[in-house]
Amino acid sequence: MSFDYDLFVIGGGSGGVRAARVAAGETGAKVALAEEDRYGGTCVIRGCVPKKLMVFASEFSGMVGDAQAFGWDIRPGGFDWNLFHGKLVTELDRLEGVYRNILKNNGVESFDQRARVVDPHTVELADGTRKTAKHILIATGGRPVVPEFPGSDLAITSNEIFHLEKLPENILIVGGGYIASEFAGIMNGLGVKTTQFYRGPQILRGFDEEARGLICDEMRQNGIDVRLETNVVEMTKAGDKIRVKATDGSEDQFDVVMYATGRAPNADDIGLEALGVERGRKGEIIVDEYSQTGVPSIYAIGDVTDRVNLTPVAIREGMAFVETVFKGNPTPVDHELIPTAIFTQPEMGTVGLSEEEAAAQESIEVYTTSFKPMQKSFAGGSQKVLMKLIVSQATRKVLGCHIVAPGAGEMIQLAGIAVKMGATKEDFDRTVAVHPVMAEELVTMRQPVRTA
Ligand SMILES: Cc1cc2nc3c(=O)[nH]c(=O)nc-3n(C[C@H](O)[C@H](O)[C@H](O)COP(=O)(O)OP(=O)(O)OC[C@H]3O[C@@H](n4cnc5c(N)ncnc54)[C@H](O)[C@@H]3O)c2cc1C
Repeated sequence: MSFDYDLFVIGGGSGGVRAARVAAGETGAKVALAEEDRYGGTCVIRGCVPKKLMVFASEFSGMVGDAQAFGWDIRPGGFDWNLFHGKLVTELDRLEGVYRNILKNNGVESFDQRARVVDPHTVELADGTRKTAKHILIATGGRPVVPEFPGSDLAITSNEIFHLEKLPENILIVGGGYIASEFAGIMNGLGVKTTQFYRGPQILRGFDEEARGLICDEMRQNGIDVRLETNVVEMTKAGDKIRVKATDGSEDQFDVVMYATGRAPNADDIGLEALGVERGRKGEIIVDEYSQTGVPSIYAIGDVTDRVNLTPVAIREGMAFVETVFKGNPTPVDHELIPTAIFTQPEMGTVGLSEEEAAAQESIEVYTTSFKPMQKSFAGGSQKVLMKLIVSQATRKVLGCHIVAPGAGEMIQLAGIAVKMGATKEDFDRTVAVHPVMAEELVTMRQPVRTA
């Protein structure tokens, strides 16, 4: 049977673009891709990239005081949201162009339309055109969801935060995950009076407890009103403001309320039900280790499968799919020991097990140190950093590495290599320290602070 394409990709985000371009560019496959919104997807248009640029923008406010302490005669000025936002829009347009060109230059035919699957080898575009393909790859990502409660329609999500008309005077951010906590730091750094509600006992659930505790303390020290075990009861419009009633009995008014309490996979209304493609509890597409669904010609990668929702993981899954299906080399995706950064202020870099997870699994030694870094200490700041290693007593392997410090994301990429290779505590110890840097503590901690 002959098809229009060897591969039809639905979704032009991190995973879809990579899979399409590698399949076409490296294997000569005839590939098409449909994107209903903007090329680059969540990461480039409304995720990692604009967020990191906002983190950069927000960090300058704290630098002025440090610079003065180091002898610089500079004064804090105001932040010009319009200037920044104009440049942000231009940069995102540029990056979208890069993604479009990647596809074009690799011979991928793209359709600027929504697509759905009508049978195991046929895709239907929004204009009704049907295309057949030997393989279909669903890479439709996810979207933020706001829970239903009185006034919930007044909330914005991370999709809108990048395009505020003006910077608010105050903001409420609801949620305790990495997106909520990162935006609390961003807004606070930009000079917005920031409150964060989280219904649980501590933000950043699932990460190492000591690290989460330090980040929350530091966020509060930076001026964010983090209110734990607090949720919104109802929101009402009060002139230009939003009045928020909370479970702690408080009632406050905010210019903007941003919800970052959860995301859902984009797997509805794309024809999966009729084909019998299995979905999970959150609606995610169920796939095997090769990203194949129960319908052999249909694969799915990235956030729509809700495995590990990060850009490099979606990219890996896309490359493994091409390796498996187009290069004849079955390649499962390795989801173990993924290093990751949380761009809170302070930043966290983490790989492997938290102390709590490791202790539940086996006997461990915990090496940890928290100190004032040189630059901040000289400037008279009270900020602390944390370096922490979790070590297996039986194998001596480093099971987890957690860093809370400026630049922790950069550090964990490198520490992640050692941990992924199975480095032992003794391997860390025999590595000579780099001096004077914060990360030298990772190779100079000699005595465990506790065993568990
Ligand atoms: C605020 C925020 C910050 C983030 N920060 C980080 C970070 O710092 N580091 C990190 O690694 N990850 C981060 N992420 C996660 C990262 O963005 C995602 O894991 C990644 O984008 C997933 O890629 P994907 O290819 O699965 O989906 P996406 O990038 O979401 O792409 C899916 C694409 O499919 C399109 N689409 C959907 N349905 C259809 C359809 N039926 N037809 C045609 N097109 C369709 C969408 O328009 C979208 O462009 C962040 C996410 C958010 C929201």
